[in-house]
Amino acid sequence: MLSDSQLTLKPSLAVDHLLDAHSKYEYEEYIQKAVEYIKSFLDNDSFYSGASTESLRAYNDRIAIQSETNISLDQALREIKDVFLDHAISFHHPHYVAHLNCPVLLPALVGDLIASSVNTAIETWDQSTSGTLIEQEIIRWICDVMNLPPESDGVFTSGGTQSNFEALLIARDHYAFTHYGINLKENGWSDEVSKFRIFCSDKAHFSVKKNAALLGMGYGAVIPVETDDKMKMKVDTLVQAIEKEKQQGNIPIAIVATAGTTDFGSFDPLEIISKIAKEYNIWFHIDGAYGGCYALTDTHKHLLKGTAYADSITIDFHKTLFQPVCSSAFLIRDAAYFKYVSYYADYLNPLENRNEQQPNLIEKSIQTTRRFDALKLWFTLKVVGVKTLGSFLEKVHYLALEAYYTIKDDIYFEVAHKPELSTLVFRFKTPGVINDNLLDQVNLHIKNTLFNSGKASVASTKINDKTYLKFTLLNPRTTMDDLLQVITMIKKQGVLYTTNN
Ligand SMILES: *Cc1c(COP(=O)(O)O)cnc(C)c1O
Repeated sequence: MLSDSQLTLKPSLAVDHLLDAHSKYEYEEYIQKAVEYIKSFLDNDSFYSGASTESLRAYNDRIAIQSETNISLDQALREIKDVFLDHAISFHHPHYVAHLNCPVLLPALVGDLIASSVNTAIETWDQSTSGTLIEQEIIRWICDVMNLPPESDGVFTSGGTQSNFEALLIARDHYAFTHYGINLKENGWSDEVSKFRIFCSDKAHFSVKKNAALLGMGYGAVIPVETDDKMKMKVDTLVQAIEKEKQQGNIPIAIVATAGTTDFGSFDPLEIISKIAKEYNIWFHIDGAYGGCYALTDTHKHLLKGTAYADSITIDFHKTLFQPVCSSAFLIRDAAYFKYVSYYADYLNPLENRNEQQPNLIEKSIQTTRRFDALKLWFTLKVVGVKTLGSFLEKVHYLALEAYYTIKDDIYFEVAHKPELSTLVFRFKTPGVINDNLLDQVNLHIKNTLFNSGKASVASTKINDKTYLKFTLLNPRTTMDDLLQVITMIKKQGVLYTTNN
């Protein structure tokens, strides 16, 4: 322990690298240097270096933190280049067609840089001031796009998984409160809750099940409902499933419909499902993580008409609005429902200081410290505009359709569905070969070989336990020519593998 006299004698410490008025030119220099490295990353020919796992693991010594030494900014940037940037996956590359990662828009990056540099924490008014108004404006805008009523509200989240979590939590607690007078927030678990059941299609995102588990209800609380040949929830089967659960003494509390399933981009019939939810007086949540933003298009907005009847909606701007991760929102039909998550902490947002003019967004969120993610989207909407964003989405939808028509009659392919959004699920098939085991192997081989070569990245998924390949198209700059190149590579690898095995 230092005594008081020693403390005052301590030599003053040189403070480097902090962002403030002293360092603004240094800040500019750092950012400019970083930009040079990003520019060279953008110039990479392939979506991936193709480095083997062993060669990446061999960087471990350089990745290790040496707590006793530090290196210069230039040295550290070169390290970033060697150990990360040279092997980072380029989501903007036209041959990257694997997962739901979009290329990002320049205004979004500028917005993100500002949000990160100012480092606004958006959860209370006294940390965010007009930042709060900007997030609320984006929420108002998207609630209106979704045709939710004026009392609707929402909050930015870390992603679709968290939005679905908040939806299920509120659905559960609202049901328990209104039907049994049980206050789960205050008092914790109640036996009734073990009987609560949530219905979604068998193509719904896994986060429905995972969140049910995190909420203490278990996977068993989620009842998967069969889908039709267009991968949409069968509504007759939904009603039967609800009735069956009731007969068994269980308690249906919510239906989760998907607007754009992760694999197939299929839309459950939202309007019909909303009526079923209403009939049973249960919560109607729409998971629009993937398809929600298609409400901005002329091609798909009719599929999203049912959002007007939703109790809550998940929407991911980092999936389909060209935003860097994170940018996502949870919307709710009535702001009053946020009471199930709100907490008043003396040090942050004491109840007695509640003030309509200076809202504390923490009352709606399950996070505490939260990034100002709304700024980059706000900036994007201002600079790029809603119409252009909608046209990008239409473009990738048409690209998926074109890919579908290109391979649907090809004897080397079997397509699983006609794209409703911007994914295409299909598999390579050797003419005459019906051995599913071999087809599973060859399709996995194709996916891995293309990835390891750094030439193209396609995803894989399963239908009835059979392995399929998937194109997820989110880049409006990708052309049919680009896809034809990928299709040719797939065929070549497929034929090579089957002739050798
Ligand atoms: C991606 C996805 C999610 C999860 O969203 P994250 O932002 O990755 O947490 C949820 N639902 C659907 C339908 C999705 O496609």
